[in-house]
Amino acid sequence: MYPTIPITRNPNPSAKPAADAALGFGQIFTDHMFLMDYTDGEGWHDPRIVPYAPICLDPSAMVFHYGQAIFEGLKAYRQPDNQISLFRPRLNFERVNQSNARMVIPPVDPDFCVHALKELLRLEQDWVPSQSGASLYIRPFIIATDPYLGVRPSKSYQFLIILSPSGAYYPQGLNPVNIYVENEFVRAVKGGTGFAKTPGNYAASLIAQANAYAAGYVQVLWLDGVHRKYIEEVGSMNVFFVIDGKIVTPQLNGSILPGITRRTVLELAESLGYETEERSIAIDELWELAQNGRVSEVFGSGTAAVISPVGELRYEHETVIFNNGQIGPISQTFYDIITGIQYGRQTDAYQWIERI
Ligand SMILES: *Cc1c(COP(=O)(O)O)cnc(C)c1O
Repeated sequence: MYPTIPITRNPNPSAKPAADAALGFGQIFTDHMFLMDYTDGEGWHDPRIVPYAPICLDPSAMVFHYGQAIFEGLKAYRQPDNQISLFRPRLNFERVNQSNARMVIPPVDPDFCVHALKELLRLEQDWVPSQSGASLYIRPFIIATDPYLGVRPSKSYQFLIILSPSGAYYPQGLNPVNIYVENEFVRAVKGGTGFAKTPGNYAASLIAQANAYAAGYVQVLWLDGVHRKYIEEVGSMNVFFVIDGKIVTPQLNGSILPGITRRTVLELAESLGYETEERSIAIDELWELAQNGRVSEVFGSGTAAVISPVGELRYEHETVIFNNGQIGPISQTFYDIITGIQYGRQTDAYQWIERI
């Protein structure tokens, strides 16, 4: 048992969005947030739930200058019986520690973090939307707070969890997207921070995203940072290919983010009897396989979209279309099973769901 987490109630709670409101993503925040502090010598201390409000940091706080920070992303789902569930939440807080280790941030206790998150959710459960496909997006993050401009790991940190009711990722249905293969900029390199969920990776990716968008594409396919040859990820999702009926994804190599949805897809695929393979896939190899009609489906995987089918890839001056630009049966199956389990429409045969 953990000591009680003190709660300071928000004296001015906000009106909840209407049942049919367009929630969008990450724009609305609930009335409370979780906070705890780290001080050298004392460790993590003073966990508390307080009103959602701006935080006060010294302008010299290290996070602003050298980007020492990590974040996570998961969701709470309303069940048919009105209860609230989380999907494999411990994996997110184990990944916090993998990210922390890379960024020289002291580790947290994953079980305590899950406990603290559940406490916060119990207080905020009316904010979990009931609309079809909507969820309460959960954003845990840690920032370096020492007021110091020298370059070294901070000696103090703050850990926060904020909550944001968010609408369905696919209000118009699960439509495949077109993707631009990025061959100039890279997201991450081996030995760098690609496997850590750290804000700098996103800062570094914005330019390619903006260029792809300007060219009429919604996301980029990232190639490896050394050869610009091997496929890594799609936007901020992991990527899967169905090649001759086998489910293939790039193996975790240090520059790829170890997605929890990626792991879920691989485990589910095995359980459904599909052959799976984690290996390097060169863009040239993919191109040849695709042109020979051997790549039946391509999809991204991540918490936000769950499964995001790819209808078209553009690489240099060439384009390939997958499954006639339609979502394929395997992508649809994974989407239906994973969301079915998350929203409690389907039996949780794998014990992936945790009720708060
Ligand atoms: C978070 C993230 C993913 C997906 O991870 P999930 O745990 O499945 O949400 C993939 N790639 C990047 C770069 C990410 O930041």
